[in-house]
Amino acid sequence: MTNPGLRPCDVLAIGAHPDDVEIAAAGTLLLLAQAGRTVSIVDVTRGEKGSRGTVADRTAEAAAAAARLGVQDRRNLERPDTAVAADEATVLLLVAALRQGRPRLLLAPHAHDVHPDHVATATDCERAWFLAGLRHVAPELGAPHRPTLFLRYPGNRHVEPTVAVDVTAVAGAKAEVLRCYRSQLHPPDRGHLVQGLDVLERAEVRDRFHGARIGVGAAEPFWHDGPLPLRAAALLP
Ligand SMILES: [Zn+2]
Repeated sequence: MTNPGLRPCDVLAIGAHPDDVEIAAAGTLLLLAQAGRTVSIVDVTRGEKGSRGTVADRTAEAAAAAARLGVQDRRNLERPDTAVAADEATVLLLVAALRQGRPRLLLAPHAHDVHPDHVATATDCERAWFLAGLRHVAPELGAPHRPTLFLRYPGNRHVEPTVAVDVTAVAGAKAEVLRCYRSQLHPPDRGHLVQGLDVLERAEVRDRFHGARIGVGAAEPFWHDGPLPLRAAALLP
């Protein structure tokens, strides 16, 4: 792929593998879509080295999940699974995606993670987020654009969040989105799973934990670099 071909959107969520975005942020994306925001997803790889599910399975699952989420566009950069590099080629694909989609909110992985693809994708997103806003960097990829809000989501390691989004109202709908990833659910042999839980169990346990921390049933954790600007009205909604 040389051109992500994204239409303009309010929110762009980037993941190393199909299902990363949904595990971390399906609830937040569902709520944003319900509020009328357009959401698009970019997956960096097709997850072809995953222990379960073929590429065809995972592609079909990602499409089904996107439909349930109400996503406008879902694109795959087709970088090599387990070998995503923090390299200029990937960064430029992400710059192109940012300049095409021109989102106000960017969601991307946090770099503190056990999976090398998550770490590399986090680094690539960080670079792309900054470079996409510089007009003399790759001007052939479109007019400069930098999302005003950039939230990182944790993957396989705990990251102390600075933002927790109450997703209680859509917890059931998030579970239905994750059930689209049939190849990643309830495997008879759990040996390949990083933490012994399937994607749905991991998401539910984590969201309930972070929900309890803010006094709600379920919350998705994010990390913002530095103070998060808030309007005064948001302090007492
Ligand atoms: Zn992943």
